[in-house]
Amino acid sequence: MEEEIKERARKAGAALVGITSRERLEGHACADPSYYLPSARSVVSFAVPLDRRVVRDYLGKKDPSARREMAVLEYETYCRLEEIGEEVKRKLEERGHRAANCERNLDYRNHVRGSDRWEGARMIAELARTDPEHPLVRALRSGEVEVYNPDYTPTFSHRYAAVAAGLGRLGWSGNLVTKEYGALVLLGSVVTEAELEPDPQLEENPCLGCRRCVSVCPSGFLAVKEAKVVRIGEVEDRVCRHGSLSKCVLCCGGFSGGSREGWSTWSPWRLRVPEGDEEADALIRRTVVEHLLAGGGKTENVLRFAKGIALGLRKEVMSPEDFGPTCSFCQLVCWGSEEERRENVRLLFSSGVVEEEGGGVGIRRPVARVS
Ligand code: SF4
Ligand code: SF4
Repeated sequence: MEEEIKERARKAGAALVGITSRERLEGHACADPSYYLPSARSVVSFAVPLDRRVVRDYLGKKDPSARREMAVLEYETYCRLEEIGEEVKRKLEERGHRAANCERNLDYRNHVRGSDRWEGARMIAELARTDPEHPLVRALRSGEVEVYNPDYTPTFSHRYAAVAAGLGRLGWSGNLVTKEYGALVLLGSVVTEAELEPDPQLEENPCLGCRRCVSVCPSGFLAVKEAKVVRIGEVEDRVCRHGSLSKCVLCCGGFSGGSREGWSTWSPWRLRVPEGDEEADALIRRTVVEHLLAGGGKTENVLRFAKGIALGLRKEVMSPEDFGPTCSFCQLVCWGSEEERRENVRLLFSSGVVEEEGGGVGIRRPVARVS
């Protein structure tokens, strides 16, 4: 049955597919498959690579349309992952086993989901626009009412499942690094009560420790030296130690462009990301509200973010407009070879700075391109 499941996944578009037992994931609450299915015994993990030409145009900020093209690519890849998951689930159910197709991203255990949450965010944005002195708007502005919880424990860690299933290993950045595509893959997982034969785990870690992921992180989230060891099943990986994910969310969520000399993310807004975890948590709480009430592009950005968390990244609720990638640089520069990674960093470091311009965004290029 294992080969039939993998064949079904490949036919649906998976480039990599593997199986892990539940036991290999023990000790990692964020990758406990019983969260989705209490009787789960195994997990099928699969990956789809991203189109390299689109990624390079995005890294190098070829023109303003490169961000939209990246959003469409992410949207289409998540749709593909959803379809692969449904095919795998169907195959298992045909054989009489219960299975669950896990949500692919932006699904956190301690963030409440539901259309009422989404309607609430929209209602607050509208109230701020039409009645800025409304008591609720004033309470939000003064910090009396909090609307955001910076706890990003995922419902299920696809990265950990992929390591356990032999697709790759954790790189220094914490991203999954595969032999075939580096970190340039998006992931999905199906948990099932079927007792499946697990695949061997990857013996050698394809991460070469080049730290290019660290050099392109504008939030300071990734440490250069301090490491922690993560054991998953039979393998151990040294990954960078990091604190609160709020630092990453401030940049990757588009709240700050993390501007550096000659380059930034795709966000035109600037905030200094603090070093302390508590300060970063407080800043993201405050910034989500400030941007929600601000109007214009800032509000649209928060509503897009809120939509993903409140409704999920399923085909019936999302569109390419729901994807507003601004960073992900640690993942996107990490291709299979050192030459490719070096070229990706060069492209990013000479890509220019994104700025607000006439209701949209423009790109200010550096005077001298970095060679
Ligand atoms: S960029 Fe280099 S150090 Fe970072 S995860 Fe990729 S291979 Fe490892
Ligand atoms: S997504 Fe961006 S901000 Fe977050 S860790 Fe990666 S490079 Fe840093």
